[in-house]
Amino acid sequence: MARVLVVITPAEGHVNPSLGLVKQLTDNGEEVVYVCTEEYRSRIEQTGAELRTYPFPEDAFSHDPVLKPAEYKHPYQFVYMMVGGIIRKIVPEVLRVTADETFDYLIFDSLMGWGGTIIAEKLGIPAVCSIASFAFVEPLGTDQDMDENRKDVKELYEATMKLTRQLADEFQVRAPAMDEIAKHEGRLKLVYTSRYFQPQAEKLDDSFIFAGPSIVPRQDAPSFPFEQLRARHQQTVYIAMGTILNKDLDFYKLCFDAFQDLPATFVLSSGKHTDMEPLMDRIPANFIVKPYVPQLEMLQRADAFITHAGMNSTSEALYYNVPLVMIPLTSDQPLVAKRVQELGAGITLDKNNLTPAALRAALVEVLSNPDYRQQAHVIGESLRQAGGYKRAADAITNYFAAINR
Ligand code: UDP
Repeated sequence: MARVLVVITPAEGHVNPSLGLVKQLTDNGEEVVYVCTEEYRSRIEQTGAELRTYPFPEDAFSHDPVLKPAEYKHPYQFVYMMVGGIIRKIVPEVLRVTADETFDYLIFDSLMGWGGTIIAEKLGIPAVCSIASFAFVEPLGTDQDMDENRKDVKELYEATMKLTRQLADEFQVRAPAMDEIAKHEGRLKLVYTSRYFQPQAEKLDDSFIFAGPSIVPRQDAPSFPFEQLRARHQQTVYIAMGTILNKDLDFYKLCFDAFQDLPATFVLSSGKHTDMEPLMDRIPANFIVKPYVPQLEMLQRADAFITHAGMNSTSEALYYNVPLVMIPLTSDQPLVAKRVQELGAGITLDKNNLTPAALRAALVEVLSNPDYRQQAHVIGESLRQAGGYKRAADAITNYFAAINR
């Protein structure tokens, strides 16, 4: 059987979807070495993979000025984040912790972009790209995005390309053009969604495997008093803004104001690193607030989900037919929210014009109009039918078994 190297960016939204795949690969008999950070040790080791770690600040995606998710107003900003925040920092570490070893193929996170190609080339192995969001259909950061009249855009372009050339020199590989850095390279590209949910899927060839979200029970999820949910109200609404941009106390206060009189139980995931002390005596009686919630179990009991439209959270909700009220904040979230709204499974609100009345009206609409749940069910069915991590792992195992035959 093959010896597989898996390299995933140390962020919850990227590691989580890979876990089912890796577990299935080890069940298929592959030997998997997974390079990530200490923070993810228990869930990675539970898959049967061997973990190799490197130092990387635990909250880098919340604090590091280059990595912190931004509202990317220009594609070059995203490409710079990849080169300066991820490739420069992680690729040397991966090469260090795997030095002198041999592998048959690599699975790398799409957020590493060109970094994955460098690792594959240095190790002399073919690669599979793991895409934890929608796949990019058009190249990101082309020459057409250059605006000669904008000094900031030119500077960003130059800074990105300078760093890219430096790294190419350091690793002794060819320096890519700007629009090649974020491109999904690899023999196979694994997307954790369905062809139905992916926008413009008809433009993506068969090297893209749409396997649906990786829904795997999480053994390290905390417990939750589920018996309290239907104790007072029939309906349950789950609120969670993901694991990175989840420290906005004003937003939580806005939720309290919007929903304290509604006859539903609200469960709020406030974030492992959020200090809720200033709001402690304002929590309404119909709220249960926890720093971290077993989200998969919660969604199976939720009538609606108020979310930042992170790809994982959104897919998990739709997988369980839960309609959404979405307040996209950064990165790919506006795209994800747009797609959900386009397909009729939720309502998107503008974070800059959020009021308790608007939030409440959107939630009441989603809870009372059955069309939203019906459309969530249609997308959910496409996600459930996509085959999941088993199909993904089998496609990969079979592909490499066939070329090595
Ligand atoms: N999550 C969870 N419990 C929580 C908050 C988040 O299990 O209380 C998980 C959630 O199920 C999802 C991931 O964390 O798999 C968040 O990923 P997403 O892409 O939605 O958002 P991000 O954290 O990357 O902004």
